[in-house]
Amino acid sequence: MQGALLASQSLCILIFLFILLTHSAGFNKYYPPDYEPDKHKSLNSYRGKHALGDRARKIDQGILITRFELPFNIWCGTCDNHIGMGVRYNAEKKKIGNYYSTPIYSFRCKCHLCDGWFEIQTDPKNTRYVVVSGARQKDEDWNPEENGGFAVHDTEGKATPADPLAALEKTTAAQTHLTQVQAPRIESLQDASDHYNADPYSHSLRIRKRFRAEKKVAKEKERADDALKGRYGLPETLALLEDGDADAAKAKAEWEKGRQELALRDSRRRKLAPSITSITASSSSSLGASRPRASHSSSAKKPSASDSLRARILGNTARASGSLARPRPAG
Ligand SMILES: [Zn+2]
Repeated sequence: MQGALLASQSLCILIFLFILLTHSAGFNKYYPPDYEPDKHKSLNSYRGKHALGDRARKIDQGILITRFELPFNIWCGTCDNHIGMGVRYNAEKKKIGNYYSTPIYSFRCKCHLCDGWFEIQTDPKNTRYVVVSGARQKDEDWNPEENGGFAVHDTEGKATPADPLAALEKTTAAQTHLTQVQAPRIESLQDASDHYNADPYSHSLRIRKRFRAEKKVAKEKERADDALKGRYGLPETLALLEDGDADAAKAKAEWEKGRQELALRDSRRRKLAPSITSITASSSSSLGASRPRASHSSSAKKPSASDSLRARILGNTARASGSLARPRPAG
């Protein structure tokens, strides 16, 4: 009993070891005794096989067998059967050219309903596939006109006129423009450039001379401004305006006007003074004495209430100061 149990246990261990060995064989590679790593590089090259296996059987022709799915519906050109989109083939993929740097691939498939071959290529320019030979593509592109939309037209038109005479006319006009407008313009620009670049020394001399003169004037003005600011206690940073002849004339006119007004005021006061004395004299004798005073007065023909009031005040002032003569007695 004890011996049988031990035997079954050892059998279990043996089976486990066997499973372990057989499974671990899948993760390792068998290197034959005559394999030399330096000489053969890899096991594939040792066996003369491609890494991609049977799919690379035509790799010497640049063909790789790949799984290719039809991107659209087609009719086989040999058996005329309809083959639906999505049917998959073991296609011969081959690079046949470039569109700029993008490779163009060709897929050669064998019809599964007959033995005919058809070929489909990529079209990088229009980002699509095209049937090259052996089949017909079912045209299922979206057509806006058929579906109630608007047609898409080429609105840019042709760059060159189709009429040869018009083309000739255009070239003649261009020639005329070149000789009559562009060439003289370039020549005048060249002349101006030559003129300004001919004698840099004299140009520099002239410019520096003018700059010195302007600087002298500016210095003079700055000194005068500073003196003015100092006299009136103006801040140093205050920018004074330029005074010209117009400003001087205006200031002079203002001054003249002010003087005239002052003179006028003085003369009016002087004329008013005698009439005041007469008013005060007559008003002291009778109340209705304003009418005869008005006939004497030169400053106002029709005396108003404000005039008489002003006259009275002035008269009082004059009497108070005592500078005027005593009023004559009336009658
Ligand atoms: Zn076919």
